Amino acid sequence: MKKVYLTIDDAPSKDFKDKVDFLYRNKICATFFCVGENIKMQQENVAYAISKGFLIGNHSYSHPHFSDLSIDEGKESILLTDQIIDETYKMAGIERPIKVFRFPYFDRGGDESGKDYESKWTRPESERNIYKRDDRRMALQSFLKELGYVLPLFEGVNLKHLSDKKMFDYVDVGCTFDQMEYFLGLDNAPYGMDKEEAILARIDDKAPYEGRALNCLDTTDIILIHDHDYTSELFYKIINKYIDKKFEFLRLFHS
Ligand SMILES: [Zn+2]
Repeated sequence: MKKVYLTIDDAPSKDFKDKVDFLYRNKICATFFCVGENIKMQQENVAYAISKGFLIGNHSYSHPHFSDLSIDEGKESILLTDQIIDETYKMAGIERPIKVFRFPYFDRGGDESGKDYESKWTRPESERNIYKRDDRRMALQSFLKELGYVLPLFEGVNLKHLSDKKMFDYVDVGCTFDQMEYFLGLDNAPYGMDKEEAILARIDDKAPYEGRALNCLDTTDIILIHDHDYTSELFYKIINKYIDKKFEFLRLFHS
């Protein structure tokens, strides 16, 4: 059986609670990487998700490129959201089981700017792990550790398929499969990903060396999808397809 860790970024959206209920009904474990300012808009619903057993991770306060921030601004964005998440666990009356963090756009803050970071993907693979502002990247990694953030034990994830073999050298959480549903309807979408059919077909691809290994059993995957308003309908179709394929959804923490 295919094993996956399901991670859902940018939550909570307008339909967050419905998605939580849907996942809960289908006995699907998931981690929501939440944006601090979004949590503030509907903190009760996030507390509700916690009470249903979902894990809430930190995805910054307002979803910036960390390469556009100073070290202090980066720390502030992490800390503020950390406090909001703590508060939400208290509201739910549940002890926070583990602290996990994911950088918006996976930008660890080590580049000259957000734009510079984005342009990395067009440069040779050997250059992608060179950080021009390594002081900033290191400071943010240390800060996360100080606050108690850890990299969960991702069992069965086989990195030999991936370009980013250093993924587990950091404390922030990466992903091994990007569902790319956020490209729905966008003109600049790669690989025809502006179309729903292409996004769903990605799940059946057997191209592990290109980061599409959901149809292969030789690695567990960390799936990234989003809790966005404009892809809500597609969200359910994607999850239903995971259910049809009988994925086993692993817990990211042991309580
Ligand atoms: Zn995000």
